[in-house]
Amino acid sequence: MDRNDSWNEARRDVCLHAKKMHEAGLVVGSAGNVSRRIGADHLAITPTSVAYNILHEDAVSIVDLHTGETVEASHAPSYELPMHLAVYRSRPDIHAIVHTHAPYVTTLSVLRRPLPPIIDEMMVYFGGPVEVADYALTGTDAVGTNVVRTLRDRTAVLLANHGNVCVGRTLDEALHLAIVMESCARVYIEALRVGDPVPLPNDSVVAGRRLFETRHRG
Ligand SMILES: [Zn+2]
Repeated sequence: MDRNDSWNEARRDVCLHAKKMHEAGLVVGSAGNVSRRIGADHLAITPTSVAYNILHEDAVSIVDLHTGETVEASHAPSYELPMHLAVYRSRPDIHAIVHTHAPYVTTLSVLRRPLPPIIDEMMVYFGGPVEVADYALTGTDAVGTNVVRTLRDRTAVLLANHGNVCVGRTLDEALHLAIVMESCARVYIEALRVGDPVPLPNDSVVAGRRLFETRHRG
């Protein structure tokens, strides 16, 4: 695939998954953002302030991963570009990022309350509790610094008073994590309403973590 083909393919992929994120109810209007790594030097990212229902792949920006400069775009890239750059630079295994303001996830982020592994599959998907990254003003480099520090080798973080970030090897994977996370956050919040959620037994946590590591080892 030559350069134009790979850029266009990434633009289509980002646009498709951004629309799916919107259709799944994880964001409203133009909130949230989606990106994908392209080779060693670039990424494709959703534009700022374009509603997903009218988003066209031509509006997806191509950005230089090393300099952060936009190299091809009809619209300005997402305001959260610095966070996406920080994650790609620190985690070579990550090729896709989905950032949402999903309602239950954002409720936890407002409470600054981590999402513990309360359902079997959560250890396998997230590798541990989903922790809360310290608050930083939207669009600043500090968002990226805090996300990278909190994410470590895992696949998701909560952003204090904001939403979440899910990362994967493909956009299918990152979006699926965002959907799973919203569903788990909902169960956790509903359980907290009526009682004390019981944590997973330690054996399940250990076995789940092992499966997570196997999945992410290559
Ligand atoms: Zn946001």
